[in-house]
Amino acid sequence: MTRSHDDFLAACERIPGGVNSPVRAFRGVGGEPVFFASGTGPYLVDVDGKRYIDYVASWGPMIAGHAHPQVIRAVQEAAAQGLGYGAPTEIETRMANTLCAMVPSMDMVRLVSSGTEATMSAIRLARGFTGRDKIVKFEGCYHGHSDALLVKAGSGTLTLGVPTSPGVPASVAAHTMTLTYNDLDSVHEAFALAGEEIAAVIVEPVAGNMNCIPPVPGFLEGLRGLCDAHGSVLILDEVMTGFRVAAGGAQAHYGIRPDLTTLGKVIGDPVALAAGLATLELASAEGFHARLDAAAKRLVAGLQTQADAAGIGFTTNQIGGMFGYFFSAESTITRFDQVTRCDLNTFQRFYHGMLQAGVYLAPSAYEAGFVSSTHTDTVIDATLDASAEVFRTIR
Ligand SMILES: *Cc1c(COP(=O)(O)O)cnc(C)c1O
Repeated sequence: MTRSHDDFLAACERIPGGVNSPVRAFRGVGGEPVFFASGTGPYLVDVDGKRYIDYVASWGPMIAGHAHPQVIRAVQEAAAQGLGYGAPTEIETRMANTLCAMVPSMDMVRLVSSGTEATMSAIRLARGFTGRDKIVKFEGCYHGHSDALLVKAGSGTLTLGVPTSPGVPASVAAHTMTLTYNDLDSVHEAFALAGEEIAAVIVEPVAGNMNCIPPVPGFLEGLRGLCDAHGSVLILDEVMTGFRVAAGGAQAHYGIRPDLTTLGKVIGDPVALAAGLATLELASAEGFHARLDAAAKRLVAGLQTQADAAGIGFTTNQIGGMFGYFFSAESTITRFDQVTRCDLNTFQRFYHGMLQAGVYLAPSAYEAGFVSSTHTDTVIDATLDASAEVFRTIR
């Protein structure tokens, strides 16, 4: 028996089907999925030490090969600066500039974490922009697993869409028209019937989720023309084709200018998982959460004392490492409407005073705060030194 087999049995105990994406499950080929341990260049090595030449490339991202030294160095350097701040960074603008330089139609960029979020967000944007509900997609194209996109055609092309998965409401599926890829006539028909209700057409410019099916000549051009004629938004889902078909994606190759482009599959998951798992191991240590709780308590108690001394209406909530503070005369805050009644003006002055003094709090009166295990008494006390001064100036 192999270690891969044991790994699969172990995974099945905790992960439905033993995999986190159906495409990894080997259902289409039979047998059991192979568990991998590492990859370098064109090779993957499984947990039993067997080497393979890899043609999956993490479903596209590994266009430079696995563990490319420059990529790994960039990840290590970035990781050494901390894994995330929940605040703006320069690299986002560098990425946005790079994308706009590479992808011909792109003027502005919103960065998200997955292709599913990208297509879901693009559709919401198209619906908001047009004020329409219906979307057109094509059978065999995959656009992630959001509700509106897990839909197949009903019995006739133009009947209501049918959910492809239990759990997708029929009412959501009803807004999705599923047509035949490379059949422009079906799209003409759909627009003739419901053109003024169609918010967007979403399509893989080369279908990569029903094997590899390029668009027939005129298909993408026809979609562009129909969208223009009816004020609908053309979304090219280049999650798979972007940077692989051509540097500028399939739209550069075919000379089609979509209104929205979705990209993804840029980085595989092991890095994020390694970071998350290492964090959870630390968080499982004895006393970890007691330390978080103590730090947050010390902070909110200190703030309360200072606010009271300054005669400012103030109250706090705290549970474990999570806390909230409210500029409010009410002694306890338990409901949303109480939050909306807090003194926003004083909050803003406090916020900027703290920022000036080198304390970064959530930049909104509607967000919780958090401490980490590295928020020692010294750190909390330095925070309270700053806030003491700020409370004096804003009173
Ligand atoms: C994989 C894929 C998605 C979904 O991306 P995830 O990152 O898996 O959510 C969307 N569109 C296409 C064309 C894809 O191949």
